[in-house]
Amino acid sequence: MSWQLSRRAALKLGAAAVASVWVRTPAAEAAPIALPPLPWEEGALAPVISAQTISFHYGKHHRTYVDNLNKLIAGTEFADLPLEAIVQRTYGKPNQTAIFNNAAQAWNHTFYWNSLHPKGGGKPSGKLLEQIERDFGSFDQFRTQLAQAAVGQFGSGWAWLVKNGNRLEVVATSNADTPLATGKKPLLTIDVWEHAYYLDYQNRRADYVNAVIEKLLHWEFAAAQFASA
Ligand code: FE
Repeated sequence: MSWQLSRRAALKLGAAAVASVWVRTPAAEAAPIALPPLPWEEGALAPVISAQTISFHYGKHHRTYVDNLNKLIAGTEFADLPLEAIVQRTYGKPNQTAIFNNAAQAWNHTFYWNSLHPKGGGKPSGKLLEQIERDFGSFDQFRTQLAQAAVGQFGSGWAWLVKNGNRLEVVATSNADTPLATGKKPLLTIDVWEHAYYLDYQNRRADYVNAVIEKLLHWEFAAAQFASA
């Protein structure tokens, strides 16, 4: 929330009293969903993902979803809801597709940035690793399934590791769709829209996916999601 001095009050009271007359502005109410800062510097994921890709992906694509969402929800029943609730309440409602698409993309992207880390990759440990081995047979089989879901997603979308009830699963979603909307708990995601990799890998989606899995997946973040599931 931001606060701004009422112009009329300032004129009436003069400069000496400005500090005491603050009002909540309509502009502050019209922009309730924030674009969170990136969890690392734009160039921190290079060479797997370049600073240029992050700059466009975060600064243009992600920002546009957030800006569009704020325009769409201004003055509606969704204006004061948290982002997760907007995603869940608009999912599958044909007359709210635009709000869902922008809300889900805003949420998915923040989750994606948190799923990546400059010192990521490798394997998880502890209880998360145990359950991956139980549900997928081995960590390598999980890796293969995640890569297949990411590479095999036709067109734009996302590949996810989720907790569905008591089981871990790999799922792919199309366009803005998100497991958050269907009651699954996301643990990690990979964005496979072309804007996520085209500047660095052109059409070689598999090279991007394999490099992300090998070098960037943030297993500490996944473990924290798993522990709170
Ligand atoms: Fe994206």
